[in-house]
Amino acid sequence: MAYVFLEHPSSLEHDTGAYGAGASSILHPEHARRITVIERELSARDWLAFERVRSPAVDRSVLRAVHPERYVASIERACRSGGMFLDEETLVSERSFEAALHAVGGAVRMVDLLLDGDASAAFSSHRPPGHHALPSQAMGFCLFNNIAVAARYALDARRLERVMIIDWDVHHGNGTNHIFHTSRQVLFVSIHQSPLFPFTGAAADVGEGEGEGFTVNLPVPAGAGDEVWVSLIEHVVVPLAYAFEPELMLISAGYDAHRDDPLADCAVTEEGFAAMTRAIARVCAHLAVPIGAVLEGGYALGALGRSVAATLQALSTEPAPDATTSPAAALTPIARLARTRLAEFWPQLSAGPRPARSHRSRTGPRA
Ligand SMILES: [Zn+2]
Repeated sequence: MAYVFLEHPSSLEHDTGAYGAGASSILHPEHARRITVIERELSARDWLAFERVRSPAVDRSVLRAVHPERYVASIERACRSGGMFLDEETLVSERSFEAALHAVGGAVRMVDLLLDGDASAAFSSHRPPGHHALPSQAMGFCLFNNIAVAARYALDARRLERVMIIDWDVHHGNGTNHIFHTSRQVLFVSIHQSPLFPFTGAAADVGEGEGEGFTVNLPVPAGAGDEVWVSLIEHVVVPLAYAFEPELMLISAGYDAHRDDPLADCAVTEEGFAAMTRAIARVCAHLAVPIGAVLEGGYALGALGRSVAATLQALSTEPAPDATTSPAAALTPIARLARTRLAEFWPQLSAGPRPARSHRSRTGPRA
């Protein structure tokens, strides 16, 4: 089955400009070259077997399942008026509304392609990013919450009952966290540097009401690199996936945990992103669940291009037939603590690491 890369030229027209004036002006970190550098890197690698698909604009009724029409209209007006700052760092230009509609539309189209069996893995590459956006508030460079609308669509229109979202952007995905806070249909798991913008996502935030236990926050200290991040994926996130058994896996794929990133202080490498992707792809293969990633942050241009390529490479590499599911990464103290803490909600995590299981012992890899 195909691997699909979703994109739209309007991503280049969301103009965030520059702060300040003259020689002292600095480019806004969330700018159009983020997209071109990804495309250049992938083009040089012949698109890694991914088929390029042009994303439609999201249907406004689909958008309204997360963002009230009043808010959507306010963003549209701000753009039509020529653009403005919505907060200190989040701004819109004349064409930002179109870009944002296509960014959500890409994520929603991706869900259809995955659930219809037209793609086994996909990557939606747009800007603006989405995971900080609240239902009625833009923040952190985000206007609409692309991945949350896509997950909501999977539940409402496609009648799924369980969607898992893994957010590995270095910043906490506060918008997604908020939108599904009371839901047990979405298991939201975020690994993020703490303290750091937006200063939410404490380990003690586990969701509320019916959704208690279905919000999993895994804060890591500045300096955390591949060892810590991959350990959390393999020893915490993967066992959670086996316990939750999602029908769709979505990744909020930000690349600002990279060691070169100017906006944060973590130390993940391209190989780290590849290892995280491989671990998630493996559990998805065992559970026969499609997997889709949505671009969030990532502000070191070279690192961003190479890291997205590493993700696509890992997504399009089927696990070896005899691959076991046993973790390759060491169990770090931070992952051990998280397992102990989460065992209250997920008793499967209280036991030691899962015994190795043959790839063939399940019903088969994803088609
Ligand atoms: Zn970020």
